[in-house]
Amino acid sequence: MTRPIVADISAAALRHNVAVVREHAPRAQIMAAVKANAYGHAVTLCAPVLAEAGVDAFAVASLEEAEALHALRLERPICLLGGPFDADEVSVAAARAYLLVIHEQRQLRWLETHAGDAALRLFIKVDTGMHRLGFAPERLPALFAALQRYPRWEVLGLMSHLARSDTPDDPFNRQQAGVFADAIAHVGHATAGQHSLANSGGVLALPFTHQHWVRPGLMLYGLSPFAGRRGSEIGLQPVLSWRSAVVAIRELGPGDWLGYGAAWQAPAHCRVGVVAAGYGDGYPRHLGCGAPVTVAGQTTCTLARVSMDMLFVDLTDVEADIGAPVVLMGAGGPPLESLAAELGTISYEMSCRMQMRVPRRLV
Ligand code: PLP
Repeated sequence: MTRPIVADISAAALRHNVAVVREHAPRAQIMAAVKANAYGHAVTLCAPVLAEAGVDAFAVASLEEAEALHALRLERPICLLGGPFDADEVSVAAARAYLLVIHEQRQLRWLETHAGDAALRLFIKVDTGMHRLGFAPERLPALFAALQRYPRWEVLGLMSHLARSDTPDDPFNRQQAGVFADAIAHVGHATAGQHSLANSGGVLALPFTHQHWVRPGLMLYGLSPFAGRRGSEIGLQPVLSWRSAVVAIRELGPGDWLGYGAAWQAPAHCRVGVVAAGYGDGYPRHLGCGAPVTVAGQTTCTLARVSMDMLFVDLTDVEADIGAPVVLMGAGGPPLESLAAELGTISYEMSCRMQMRVPRRLV
């Protein structure tokens, strides 16, 4: 028997979430963000479903991620969101026709020296206020003048990223969209008009950011970008269901200690389930005492400290035997968003946390 831990990845939920993107942004092309192994969900499982559901392109964070996706032969453009990281990446990217996001002058020098006469397709990243990547808007006219020397490079459009789309009412969103619109007004005529600004928050709540391409990530996995709101409350379906099982049951008397550090003491007689999941799988150690968990369809909570490969759940009032199914988070269990909030982090980080040793299974 294998260790019973598994992450079920729902194809139906992925398809549903793509349909939600389409509903919100019916005229935009969808560039699905599948970086970081599809936000921890397994790109090899998710990307084929997303392609079949009609997304128009994929976005990744590195050449390695692009190569892994390319190997799936999904016949969709693959965009390197950070462009090439060094000159050596350029020839591979050019040979594969990856879409490149140029945010720095030195990347253009690498293209000059290493792309040969390849017909590159580029986005130019504009800093509209986040100050992470991108050219300042005032530098664009000179940049586009220089780009005229390379007629084989097609600038598809301008790209920028929203800093506060998780708080849609924030005036900063309109401010960024305004800077982006000004940049388009100045240099848009020298592009193919395929501009891109919106991430999930933009798709869902800021229609004025939609442009030619939308770039949703989090919402495709059924997770809400908005604090205090779960994906299921905004029409999304969670893709992940992180499952395990009870592998042992212990009866504790009043005063018995439990787990590492003997950090938890039974106040009365209690029944404790040992579950095959731990921080070595990515289950946060700080969710050890009192985090919700679903055992055999009943809600209970974790107890004591999480170990590397095991954690404890309270079965005192739960009907469950050895082998009982456990949902740690996601569909059929506690929402990932709630656990992330309990931990003081965001769904993005939580979903990326699950370790590679947890087998992912498309269901
Ligand atoms: N575009 C860029 C440049 C990003 O960095 C990200 C995610 O971090 C996305 C799109 C997708 O964002 P989200 O997951 O909020 O939809």
